[in-house]
Amino acid sequence: MGKPTGFLEVDRKVATKRPIAERVNDYLEIEIIPTPLETKEQASRCMDCGTPFCHNGCPLGNIIPEFNDAVYEENWRYAYEILVSTNNFPEFTGRICPAPCESSCVLGINKPAVAIELIEKSIIEKAFSEGWVQPQVPSKRTDKNVAIIGSGPAGLAAASQLNKAGHSVTVYERADQIGGLLRYGIPDFKLDKNIVKRRVDLMEKEGIKFETNVQIGSEIKLSKLQADFDAILIATGSTTPRIIQSKGNDAIGIYPAMEFLSQQNKRVANISLLHNHKGESYIDANILATGKNVVVIGGGDTGSDCVGTSNRHKAKSITQIEVMPKPSSERPDNTPWPNWPNMLRTSTSHDEGVDRLWSISLEEFIKDENGQLTSLLIGDIVNEVQDGKMVNKVINHREIPCELALIAAGFLHTDHGSLVKEINSLGISLDERGNIITDSTYQTSQDKIFVAGDARRGQSLVVWGISEGREAARNIDLFLMGNTILEGKTVSTFDLVK
Ligand SMILES: Cc1cc2nc3c(=O)[nH]c(=O)nc-3n(C[C@H](O)[C@H](O)[C@H](O)COP(=O)(O)OP(=O)(O)OC[C@H]3O[C@@H](n4cnc5c(N)ncnc54)[C@H](O)[C@@H]3O)c2cc1C
Ligand code: SF4
Repeated sequence: MGKPTGFLEVDRKVATKRPIAERVNDYLEIEIIPTPLETKEQASRCMDCGTPFCHNGCPLGNIIPEFNDAVYEENWRYAYEILVSTNNFPEFTGRICPAPCESSCVLGINKPAVAIELIEKSIIEKAFSEGWVQPQVPSKRTDKNVAIIGSGPAGLAAASQLNKAGHSVTVYERADQIGGLLRYGIPDFKLDKNIVKRRVDLMEKEGIKFETNVQIGSEIKLSKLQADFDAILIATGSTTPRIIQSKGNDAIGIYPAMEFLSQQNKRVANISLLHNHKGESYIDANILATGKNVVVIGGGDTGSDCVGTSNRHKAKSITQIEVMPKPSSERPDNTPWPNWPNMLRTSTSHDEGVDRLWSISLEEFIKDENGQLTSLLIGDIVNEVQDGKMVNKVINHREIPCELALIAAGFLHTDHGSLVKEINSLGISLDERGNIITDSTYQTSQDKIFVAGDARRGQSLVVWGISEGREAARNIDLFLMGNTILEGKTVSTFDLVK
């Protein structure tokens, strides 16, 4: 695979980023698309490791050593065919996947792993620029139709697969645009929305119908879809944010991260700020960090996106607080190779400027006489042994100035509105976390109804959404036809035409 000695000759290089001083003034993508030569060099680092673990690390089972080899041999068209045999949307994962594959790369045991994500992005962008990515209209239609509720990566991947199998697919989305969190959530500087549109346009040409501004459960009842469609896939995501219960949490100036982030997505696209990503009115029509002391509550991806957006708004100061202790900068012993390690991650948004604090307890939101947030009372969490037991104690209480607090403390479960009430009335249960229960074939206790993505597995990743959408589509096809032409997780390269 690749060049047998490549890993000894070439250093790992990830995508080049635009200079910070330039990029914080706009919302254009931060990463520069690698050149074919850079990509070939990186692909040459993939060694002939005998038993590769990278495809186990990838939730899609991407056939990584084979596409690396094809890139090294400059057989880009074949590399593209291998890549899309397992991944419907490499242009999304190549930009925003945290690349668990790289954590299980064999080279990563004692050297920096192969830059798989960079290679993936380069292959798909080359394919688009060469005109190889064309609408794939199925040659034969079945007489079956499928409704998909939700147009995030899970719903889109399922739609793409089911359409490929010849079924007539309609995707219903409550927001005014297609894409789920790819469209409203993830900032433009990580994923340009033209990239999402480029894919949705192709899918429309393939025959998939998209209906926006339609909330299933209220505007259209699930029972209506049950009557009109042969199968239904619920891919509604996990969009209910965790609430912070600290004293003073009714102050003006505290917002869920998604209200803040989706507004910025809309501003970039010149879309009116009347309705949020759920199609509801915004809590506040114009949430801006400009000139404010911003505190982002939560240390994950969503929090990091709030940091990047606040920097672009020109906040006065940005602090990100996290209740958990600071992770190790080395791979910890409890997640040895080839596992995904729980270690310190620094995003491009962090590089742009933020004060990150760990082991922080948020004690109180402090407001003035008008109810406006002015500061946060925080303290450091320390462990102490008391009566032979380890207990948490909060010390070093202090106030930090804050006029804008963004809650990015994670998402609890899928929206428990009218749709979930209707599915409950059909006897479909939720698990203890509030997600919708299915069996191993993604099917609920109701024959026709399947679930995929964050609505089933809880808050996760884009790559998992695509993986779940593909697997659910395969099971729906089996349910409808008794057999399936859709690939499972493992595809043999012998199936592909070189
Ligand atoms: C701010 C943020 C940043 C993130 N960054 C990354 C990242 O960099 N990399 C990564 O891998 N993952 C990231 N994630 C996680 C990733 O976006 C999700 O795991 C993924 O989008 C889940 O896909 P999904 O299709 O299950 O759901 P979603 O993308 O949430 O899509 C669900 C869709 O269903 C629609 N819907 C819900 N209910 C109804 C209804 N009743 N009727 C009609 N439509 C409905 C919603 O409006 C939504 O469009 C991020 C998440 C957030 C919040
Ligand atoms: S989708 Fe993500 S995990 Fe899979 S190969 Fe691409 S970067 Fe790696």
